[in-house]
Parts: sequence; structure tokens; C-alpha cells
Amino acid sequence: MAIYNFAAGPAVLPREVLLQAQQELLDWNGSGVSVMEMSHRGKEYMSIQAQAEADLRELMGIPKHYKVLFLQGGATAQFAMIPLNLLRGKQSVDIVNTGIWSEKAIKEARKFCHVNEVASGADRNFTYVPDLKRWKLDKDAAYVHYTTNETIGGVEFNWVPEVGNVPLVADMSSNILSRPCDVSQFGLIYAGAQKNIGPAGVTVVIVREDLVGLADPRLPTMLDYKTHADNDSMYNTPPTYGIYIAGLVFQWLKRQGGVAAMEQVNIAKARLLYEVIDGSGGFYSCPVYKADRSRMNVPFKTRDAALDTEFLKQADARGLLQLKGHKLAGGMRASIYNAMPLSGVRALADFMREFAKSKG
Ligand SMILES: *Cc1c(COP(=O)(O)O)cnc(C)c1O
Repeated sequence: MAIYNFAAGPAVLPREVLLQAQQELLDWNGSGVSVMEMSHRGKEYMSIQAQAEADLRELMGIPKHYKVLFLQGGATAQFAMIPLNLLRGKQSVDIVNTGIWSEKAIKEARKFCHVNEVASGADRNFTYVPDLKRWKLDKDAAYVHYTTNETIGGVEFNWVPEVGNVPLVADMSSNILSRPCDVSQFGLIYAGAQKNIGPAGVTVVIVREDLVGLADPRLPTMLDYKTHADNDSMYNTPPTYGIYIAGLVFQWLKRQGGVAAMEQVNIAKARLLYEVIDGSGGFYSCPVYKADRSRMNVPFKTRDAALDTEFLKQADARGLLQLKGHKLAGGMRASIYNAMPLSGVRALADFMREFAKSKG
């Protein structure tokens, strides 16, 4: 039986990547040792990390005047590091509130500065992206922060906000590399690796050079982007094995045709599920407004919790794993990141139709 893992994160990795890692586990490239056992200062490991960075730069078209950092602490640590590094003496930041992850970013930033909630989806229970025309932007804000994909709510931006000269900061944890993105529109992009990049333990930060080095000198060394930018993310020991796996994922992405090709597959995958939901005559529902539905995380429910439980049990028995919705949302959630093949989404769509027929 084929197993398909719909976990929201840590999430499925490309099978080819896992097989390659398995093959190289004991002896990387004739070095006689595992990547896990290598000095991060040795030429072998340094070549692995340099290649990972080069491939990420190529995949995303990252301009030269941006630094790529491989950090730890997850996207969650960035909720603090971003204000600590980017306030630059200013008093206030703009944050768009589209759901649970935005709210966490807001709560953490409030420890350090005034947060202007530019726009909020709270009025409709975070089921949509507020129209840019209604955003109350402050031209003196240190930056504008938004969450490109709300992993729990399943709300995704299909557009990049135009915010003038204020640096735009994006939490792309759950949709980075799933679609093309013009990095030059951003001051800073960050993502925890465990959704669309690799295993947990690595956080990718892409930051425009002019925003680095402006932090308060009392900032702890490890929290200052400059520390990591000046030392190629090797000021201290980086999460070497996670970066190695991320590098294998980047190479896999290149073999798939890159991010634009991935986007086409992602559009097709998401469409399959939303078509089943919308065509189920109300058996399934997804609360998110159609224009703002996520291609990565598809939340849905049946008419009651008992039926949802039954759905999850039967899905599990068929090898369709980890479909349980987030505890704050209930119901189901299918996370269909880059590494989820079209065949997996087809299997889920078929099961959803069958289940609806048997219970409808
Ligand atoms: C998962 C997630 C986070 C938190 O990431 P950690 O790596 O667990 O800190 C933050 N933002 C978004 C959008 C996420 O999906």
C-alpha cells in the first residue's frame, strides 16, 4: 500500500532525497564519514553548505545584495530577531494579521516596540486576506510584516503587497519555493525548514544587505544577523545535517524544473481537493474565501466531529496519514507541499469522494 503523509510540518520529504541520504549516510562522497560526523570547518562540509546556498539562490533568483542565512530557533525565533534587528531606532512596526501565525508574530514584536495592526481578518474569523486598499500603513514604520501562507487557517496571499519604501518582511515558512517570488520586493524573507525545505532545525533567512548591522550593540551576538552574515552562517556550529538535507531538496527541486514548474503541479494538486470539497453538495466544507485559499494547506470538515473522526480513521487505514486538523481548527487539514506527489493528492481526492458517497 502506498503511504502518503499529509502532515503540516515536519512534513513529507521527497522520497528520492531520503534514498540519497540513506545511501550517503555512512560515507559521504568517498569521505569515509557521515555528514553528521564532519567538522563544519572542513572542506567537505563547507562545500555542502556552499552548494545548498548556491542552489537556493538559483531557485529563488536571490540577488547578490541579499544574504542567505541558515539559522536555528525556527521561524518562532525570527518573531523576535526581526524587530531586534530591523527596528533601527524606530518605534513602530506594521503587521498584517491573517491568523494564528501572524498573531504570534504580533505578540512577540509587542515586547520590543509598538505594533500597528495594519489590517486584520478577525472580522471574518481569519478566512480571507484583507484587501490592500483597507490596510492602514504607516510610512514611518520600521517594516511591514505579513504571513504569506497561514498554515493553520489555510489562507494564502496570491499577491505581494506594494508598500512603498518601507521594507517588506514575509514569513514564508509554509509556502517558500512553492511558487516563483521576486525577492527584490522584500527586505527580509524567513522560513522554518520543516514544511517546504527540509527537516526541522534549520531556519532560512534571506535579508537585504543594507538591513544588516543596524541592531543595538547590546543585542546578544547570536541574535544579530550581522554575526551570521559576516561568518557565512558558521559563527558557531550550524545545523549541519539539516542543511545537507535541505541542499538535497534544492537539487531535487532543480531536477523537477525549478519553482515555476513546481507551481504548476501545486496548482493542479490544490484544485483536485477544492473541486471535491466544492462539488460535494455540502458534505465537505472549507471556510476560506475562494480567492485566498491556500495551495499548501487545505482545511476542511464534514458536518460533525464524529464523522470527521470516522474520516480520519478510514483515511489512516488507507495510508493517507496525518490529516487531522490543527487542534485550534478541528476537522481535517491536507498539507500538500512540494514533496507531496500528485498521485498522493489523487488518492486523497478519490477517498474523499468515496467517503462522501458512503455517508452522504
Ligand atoms: C510552522 C510555522 C511557524 C513556526 O515555525 P517553527 O519553525 O516551529 O518556529 C511560523 N510561521 C508559519 C507560517 C509556520 O507555518
